[in-house]
Amino acid sequence: MKSKFSKLKVSRSRILDIFTSVAIAAIIIFNYNSAHKTQNQFSTLNIIPTKANYVFGFNQDSFSIQENVIQKNDFFGAILQAYNLPTNLILLIEHEAKDIFNIRNIQAGKKYHVIKKNECDDTPLAIVYEPDNYKYIIYDFRDSVNVKLVEKEVETRVENAFGKIEGSLWKSLDDQGIDAGIIDLMEEALSSSVDFYHARKNDTYKIIFERKYIDGNPVGIGKLLAAEYTNDSGENYSIYYKSNDQEGYFDMEGRPARKSFLKSPVKYSKISSGFSMRRFHPIKKVNIPHYGTDYAAPYGTEIRAVADGTISAASYTSGNGKFVKLKHDNVYETQYLHMSRFAKGIRPGTHVKQGETIGYVGATGLATGPHVCFRFWKNGKQVNHLKEKLPSPVPMNMTELPKYFEHRDAIIAQLNAIGNPTYVAAVQTSRP
Ligand SMILES: [Zn+2]
Repeated sequence: MKSKFSKLKVSRSRILDIFTSVAIAAIIIFNYNSAHKTQNQFSTLNIIPTKANYVFGFNQDSFSIQENVIQKNDFFGAILQAYNLPTNLILLIEHEAKDIFNIRNIQAGKKYHVIKKNECDDTPLAIVYEPDNYKYIIYDFRDSVNVKLVEKEVETRVENAFGKIEGSLWKSLDDQGIDAGIIDLMEEALSSSVDFYHARKNDTYKIIFERKYIDGNPVGIGKLLAAEYTNDSGENYSIYYKSNDQEGYFDMEGRPARKSFLKSPVKYSKISSGFSMRRFHPIKKVNIPHYGTDYAAPYGTEIRAVADGTISAASYTSGNGKFVKLKHDNVYETQYLHMSRFAKGIRPGTHVKQGETIGYVGATGLATGPHVCFRFWKNGKQVNHLKEKLPSPVPMNMTELPKYFEHRDAIIAQLNAIGNPTYVAAVQTSRP
């Protein structure tokens, strides 16, 4: 118990700091015009806009709710201590929270709310911590200690956007207030027809996508439902489709956009050394074959599985360093060397999906700098994957096609209508 407590200890000056901020908060709140609603999520102190009577399950007429932000090097225990909560109560809170949300995992910059009977009251009745936009944890200590994780109600709306590239695709979307995460989805959807690294001025796009809302405020992007990208090679379409046995992006004919193998195990990387039967080894100083392709990338960059598969090895040797080997089918295997560490849950027998992170770039084993030595095995022999004619992805089931075409025609009609002034956005709203 004693050692536990020592971690929660804070210096007097830190507590004084917190008290000072609380005092300032009180002044700010006192001067706060309640009619004024702030949009700034990052200001350290403000009052939650009185949209609904209940916030986090507390009636605002009967409770005072103050919003704060976790500061750098703040410990939850220290925050509670600064509010004069007794040590045994803090330890109990920590204990009760363990299986729900460990209070040691709180992060600087995240919001928390102090619930009191009234503003002038020193002792809080509960603290609410928000680890992200989608959930919050109530640490309620009104009678005994009650810790509860609450998932917020998320509303999904279908929206659309279109534009012409002037500077970059990113800028064009950003100007419309669309999260850059959608670019990853566009890349995934159109990877077989569009090279997004060479998007050009005057290329145009139209997208239909889901956006998530909580209490009417956008909190993130959901699925990309359809995309049209027009460049000098013409119009390219990709449509999201889900059925009992297939899910993903398909082209107009129902061919999957997804390749059976990704080209490289690291997203933004360059080949620093290619596959070669004769290469001067930088460490061994002799000519020896290089049965792999080296991708240079910064330490810690995510390494992804190039295809669905089962992990056959997640191990270490002095030459390979930390490495992972995947078995994809009876013909193909891939191997990823020199990792700094494995991703969570990566061990022999685990099944991984294409694109899933299996480890992080490092320089373990015989390596002069951070890179992935990527090895591609065909029938037990190492081959140059960039010269391999790889199998085509599994096509959509023939019996599924009529249903797919029906869906395709409906969504293409929607895509075509985007940008047309008489078009009213097909807003569908769903609540899980
Ligand atoms: Zn290599």
